[in-house]
Amino acid sequence: MPLEFLRRKGGDPSGSKGAAPAAPPPQPVPEEAVAEDHQLRLNYGAKTSNGVRLQGGPNVLAALPRMLDGLAISDIEVIQPRETTLTIASPSIIRTQEAAEWLHAHGDASPVSRHALYVLELLDAIDLTYDTFAGAMLDGDVDPAGYPEYSAIVGGVAAHWDESTGDLIVRAVVGWGGRGARGDTDRTANRLLGRMLANILESSGSLGLTAVDRPGAVPGGPSVTCQHCGYPNVHPRAVYCPKCGMRMLHA
Ligand SMILES: [Zn+2]
Repeated sequence: MPLEFLRRKGGDPSGSKGAAPAAPPPQPVPEEAVAEDHQLRLNYGAKTSNGVRLQGGPNVLAALPRMLDGLAISDIEVIQPRETTLTIASPSIIRTQEAAEWLHAHGDASPVSRHALYVLELLDAIDLTYDTFAGAMLDGDVDPAGYPEYSAIVGGVAAHWDESTGDLIVRAVVGWGGRGARGDTDRTANRLLGRMLANILESSGSLGLTAVDRPGAVPGGPSVTCQHCGYPNVHPRAVYCPKCGMRMLHA
């Protein structure tokens, strides 16, 4: 290709390379930057019912999925309490150690279950260090990847063992939310919570509603470790472990 042609294409008809473009006039420095705003509002909600006391026994946990009869619109998945060695598990992506533990515990759960655990743990509605959770989609739709939309409601029943009697304490739990909100979600969630509570109360072995505080020792106070499952936060006077339901052996 002839050299002349290349020069002309460079846009310099004189052929010289030295002519610098004229410097632009100096701009005044602005006192404030012109900002482009970025914002994301996330909105999550959850509701939990009173506890229902169920006669303790070896088979009572197996009854949890049946308490979602007529309410679940997806497969029901039972999530066991986390291994005691996972002490700081949390669904927080920037806290990598916490996130790694959480994924180790729940990474194989379904998208619906992971969404449910994320919302319910974020809002402190359940505690997977000792709760067993049986959950499913209860209302709304999933996106093409299988994750619940913000307007969907997930939930189920969360259970732990009563530390003084060894009964199983079961609560109805619902949660929802994400990038958006709908006006009627709260009302729908209340209705679902009520129907699930009725299911729990009608299940066999139900001894009725009970007022039970969260199990475990007072934070910062004395606690003992379960000899059976290693759960470290058992109340010093507990007769049963809230996580595994076994009788405590006090020295
Ligand atoms: Zn235990």
